[in-house]
Amino acid sequence: MIDYLIVGAGPFGCVFAREMKKLGKSVLIIDKRNHIGGNTFTKKQDGIDIHVYGAHIFHTNDETIWNYVNSFTEFLPFVNSPVAKSNGELYNLPFNMNTFYKLWGVETPADAKAKISEETKLYKDLEPKNLEEQALKLVGHTIYNTLIKGYTEKQWGCDCKDLPAFIIKRLPLRYTFDNNYFNDKYQGIPKDGYTVLWERVIKDIDVQLETDFFKIKDNFDYRKVVFTGKIDEYFGYQYGKLDYRGLRFETEKLNVESYQGNAVVNYTDHSVPFTRILEHKHFNNRNINDWTYITREYPLNIDVKGEPYYPINNERNNNLYSRYKDLASKEKNVIFGGRLAEYKYYDMHQIIARALKLAKNESSNYYS
Ligand code: FAD
Repeated sequence: MIDYLIVGAGPFGCVFAREMKKLGKSVLIIDKRNHIGGNTFTKKQDGIDIHVYGAHIFHTNDETIWNYVNSFTEFLPFVNSPVAKSNGELYNLPFNMNTFYKLWGVETPADAKAKISEETKLYKDLEPKNLEEQALKLVGHTIYNTLIKGYTEKQWGCDCKDLPAFIIKRLPLRYTFDNNYFNDKYQGIPKDGYTVLWERVIKDIDVQLETDFFKIKDNFDYRKVVFTGKIDEYFGYQYGKLDYRGLRFETEKLNVESYQGNAVVNYTDHSVPFTRILEHKHFNNRNINDWTYITREYPLNIDVKGEPYYPINNERNNNLYSRYKDLASKEKNVIFGGRLAEYKYYDMHQIIARALKLAKNESSNYYS
C-alpha cells in the first residue's frame, strides 16, 4: 500500500512528493512522459541544456522560494532581455527607453512620456471591449501595431479584436534604459539545467516513467492520489473539453558560435509563422564556442490528443473549469494541483509555492 501516488513528475508533483517523503510517507511518482521535470525539462545535448518545452527563466520576489531552489542546485545569474523583430527592425523589450528611442528617436523620459501621452490621448475615453482596445488605451497605436498585435494574434490564433480585454491588465512602460524583462528581485537559471534540480528534489523517491495514470490506476494500492494532469480528462470529459493553445518546437544545431546573440528573440510579423527563436546556450552554457542550438516556437491549435500548453481562460472555459472544480472538491482522497489540474498558467516559483502550501495543508492531517 503506497501512501501517495503522485501523478506527474513536473515541478508540482516533485515538490509535493518530497514534502510527503519528509513526513515518512511512502510515495510513488508516475509520469506518462519518458522524463521528469514536466514542461521545465532540460536535456543536455553537446554540452548545451536544451529547454525542450520552451524557454524557462526562474524569477521570484519570494526569498523562501529562491532559497528553496538554491538548496538543491546552484543558479547562475541571468537577466531576461528579449529582443523583438518587427518589419526587419530589432527592438528591446520590455517597453523601455531603448524601445522608445528606436521607435521615435526620443532621448529623454520626458519626451518619451509626451509621445506616449499624445498617442494614448486618442483612446483615453474608450471603454475597452477587447484586447486591441485595451492595448491602444494603455500604450497607443505605434507600440501596439509594431510590437503587440502580430505576436499576440499568432500566439492565440485569432484577431486581437476577438480576445478579451482582461488578458492585458497592465503593459508596463519603463522610462529608463533597462532591458531587464522581470521586476523580480531574484532571477537565474540552474547551472546544470532544470532536470538536475528536479532529480535532486526527488532523490530517494521511486519514479515510474512512461506510465499513464488512466491505464494503471487500478493496478496499484494507494491511500491518496495527487493528480497534476488535466482535470477534464480525470472526469472523463463529462462536461466537455477545456481548451488549450498548443506549441510545436523545431530545434536545430548550427555550427556557428552564436546565431542571434541573445537567448530569446520574438518575431512579431504575421509573415513569420513562429513567435520566437530561443538560442539555448545564452541561458547557461556560454562557454561553448563551436556550435549552438536554436529552437523555433510555433503556436498551434490542438485537439484533445495534443500536448496542452496555455489554458485559454475565456468565459466558456472558466465556467467549465468551475464545474470540474466542484466535482474535484467532492472527490475523496484525491488532491488536485498544478497547472493542468487547476487550469491556470503558473510560473515555476508560483507552482512551487502552491505545492508547498497544499503539502502543508495535507501534513496538518498528521498532526491534528
Ligand atoms: P507540468 O510541468 O506540466 O507537469 C505535469 C506533468 O504531469 C507532465 O510531466 C505530464 O506528462 C504529467 N501528466 C499529465 N497527465 C498525466 C497522466 N494521465 N499520467 C501520468 N502523467 C501525467 N515558468 C517560469 O517560471 N518561467 C518561464 O520562463 C516559463 N516559461 C514557460 C514557457 C512555456 C512555453 C510554458 C508552456 C510554460 C512556461 N513556464 C514558465 C511555466 C512552467 O512550465 C510551469 O510553471 C510548470 O511546468 C508547472 O508545473 P506542473 O507540475 O504544474 O506542470
